[in-house]
Amino acid sequence: DGKLLIIVTPTYNRASQSYYLNRLAQTLRLVPSPLLWIVVEMNAASVETVEILMGTGVMYRHLVCKKNSTNIKDRGVHQRNTALEHIERHRLDGIVYFADDDNIYSLELFEKLRAIRRFGVWPVAMLSQNKNKAILEGPVCNGSQVIGWHTNEKSKRLRRFHVDMSGFAFNSTILWDPRRWHRPNSDAIRQLDTVKEGFQETTFIEQIVEDESQMEGLPNDCSRIMNWHLHLEASNVVYPKGWQASRNLDAA
Ligand code: UDP
Repeated sequence: DGKLLIIVTPTYNRASQSYYLNRLAQTLRLVPSPLLWIVVEMNAASVETVEILMGTGVMYRHLVCKKNSTNIKDRGVHQRNTALEHIERHRLDGIVYFADDDNIYSLELFEKLRAIRRFGVWPVAMLSQNKNKAILEGPVCNGSQVIGWHTNEKSKRLRRFHVDMSGFAFNSTILWDPRRWHRPNSDAIRQLDTVKEGFQETTFIEQIVEDESQMEGLPNDCSRIMNWHLHLEASNVVYPKGWQASRNLDAA
C-alpha cells in the first residue's frame, strides 16, 4: 500500500561519507514511493552533504541540529531527536525508521516496513567487537510474535529490549497520539536519551510500547536478515599529499 516511509539518517563529514550516503541513496531510490529521507547534520548544513543529496533523485529534507554537544559518544542521538521533533511538528504520518548512513540495507526490508502497524522489530547482523565473529541482535519470533531476544550482553545492567538502532521501526502517530495507541507513558516522548551507551534504543522503545505483545516481529519467524551493521569504518584516513579531496573521498 502507499504508506509513507520516513527514513531518518544522521550524518557527518568524513572520508567515507560520500561512499556511504551514495550507497544508501541508491538503495532508497529503488524503493517504491512515497518515501521521505530526513538527513540530519550537526551545527550547520555542509556543502559536502548538500552536493551528495542534490544528485540522489530521492525526496529528502536536509535538517540541522543546533544543540551544543561535545560528547563524542552522542553519535547521532541529537540529530535523530531533531528529526523526531520535525516529524511531530509537521504531523508526518508514516513509518519512522532510523537508518544510519554506514549500514547495509536490503530492498526486502523497506517492503516489510510498509506492513508495520504499530511497532516492527527484527534481528540485525553485526560483527562482534573484535570483528571476527558474526552475531545477531534482535528478537526471536514465533510467526510475528516476539518470544525472546538474541543477547550478547557483557554489562551487568540488562537492557529490557535487545534491539539495534537499525532493527526497529514504528508508526509516527504514536508520537502525538498516545491514547489511540495505549502508549505506556502518555507524557511527551522524552526522545532518544543520552543515557549510558547501548541503552538508547531500549529507553526509547520502552516509551512507545508496553511489552513484546505490542511488537510485530519481521519477517515471519524473524528468520531472515534484512540489514547489516558491520562497523567497518576506517578512522583517521590520511590523504596523499596534493589531493584536492577536502573532507570526502568523493569522485571528480
Ligand atoms: N554520526 C554523526 N556524527 C557523529 C558520529 C556519528 O552524525 O559524530 C552518524 C553516522 O553518520 C551514522 C550514525 O550517526 O549515520 C551512527 O554512527 P556510527 O555508525 O559511527 O555509530 P555506531 O553505529 O558505531 O554506534
